[in-house]
Amino acid sequence: MKTEILTLNTFSVQKAKDILFAGGVIGMPTETVYGLAGIGTMPNAVKKIFEVKGRPSDNPLIAHVHKDYDLNKLVFVEQEYAYKLIKAFMPGPLTLVFKSKGVVCKEATCGGETLAVRMPSHSGCQKLLKAVDMPIVAPSANLSKHTSPVTAEHVYNDLNGKIELILDGGKSSGGIESTVLDVTGSVPRILRAGLITKEMIEEVVGACEIAYHKDGDKVKSPGVKYTHYKPLCETMLFEQSQLDLVEIEYEKAIKQGKVPYVMCTDEVAEKFSDKNLLKLGLTPEQVASNLYDKLLEGEKKADLIIAVAMPDEMGVNMGVMNRLRKSCG
Ligand code: AMP
Ligand code: MG
Repeated sequence: MKTEILTLNTFSVQKAKDILFAGGVIGMPTETVYGLAGIGTMPNAVKKIFEVKGRPSDNPLIAHVHKDYDLNKLVFVEQEYAYKLIKAFMPGPLTLVFKSKGVVCKEATCGGETLAVRMPSHSGCQKLLKAVDMPIVAPSANLSKHTSPVTAEHVYNDLNGKIELILDGGKSSGGIESTVLDVTGSVPRILRAGLITKEMIEEVVGACEIAYHKDGDKVKSPGVKYTHYKPLCETMLFEQSQLDLVEIEYEKAIKQGKVPYVMCTDEVAEKFSDKNLLKLGLTPEQVASNLYDKLLEGEKKADLIIAVAMPDEMGVNMGVMNRLRKSCG
């Protein structure tokens, strides 16, 4: 199969719609990462998504809808506070997990009782969702376990020959996957950290819990138990208090004839100006936005990526550190 990349416009959206309604899957831009999209009410399309990615069959998909879509068609909004969150953060990088009405097929929810729903804020993605006017289920458009894509080219590099079309909507601005929030209980619970932070949620609804997953736990959000985001080269991760070790590992790699790169914030990079660098930016938002792009750049250039952790795990850094550990830890 030939994989075509088309700039997202009226013409390509029509083409995407035709493929989707015929049960096909496509690459689609969102403000978080690129998605591998299929119509959520079509079991065969959903099966194709799992096949193309090599995704474990117990890891459910997020349903994406346009901003005027009536969520009540898909889910039971049982908690009053959920309306406040919808008002405050949708459209945007927040996924809410509700009790499902079963409209989105069981292949997408992996037979579970709940459905995760999101309204992307990416304007091109909104155009596609509006044109289709159906829930589009989409995991990240990478091969399972590899780094999530933030450009059409990244999608192409993983899925060339496996899908017909990738809509190019530019580089994803957010850079890490959405915050996944369970809103079925009396207090919202973060299942996956992202750009909508615990602090931001608390500001709107007062309380917010974090689901910590330990070995052996029955996992509420299956995706969090899998290794993810792995670049194709060797990786290491050090704390900011261990910069001497970064230095040692870097020199060791050079002596072994390897090409090492240090991946870190711009601030830390100032201490390593004599080294190969993958600079992530200054603010946590910049770091999130650049993280996957730099990991994917790094795996091409480097034999070894030595990553330096963020200074803390507050706010957006919680989501960043969660990804850094899974990619480089
Ligand atoms: P991905 O689309 O690859 O970013 O993964 C979607 C994430 O959302 C994974 O961590 C899934 O486990 C999680 N997820 C999707 N649907 C549900 C659901 N119904 N309940 C809890 N977590 C979900
Ligand atoms: Mg993913």
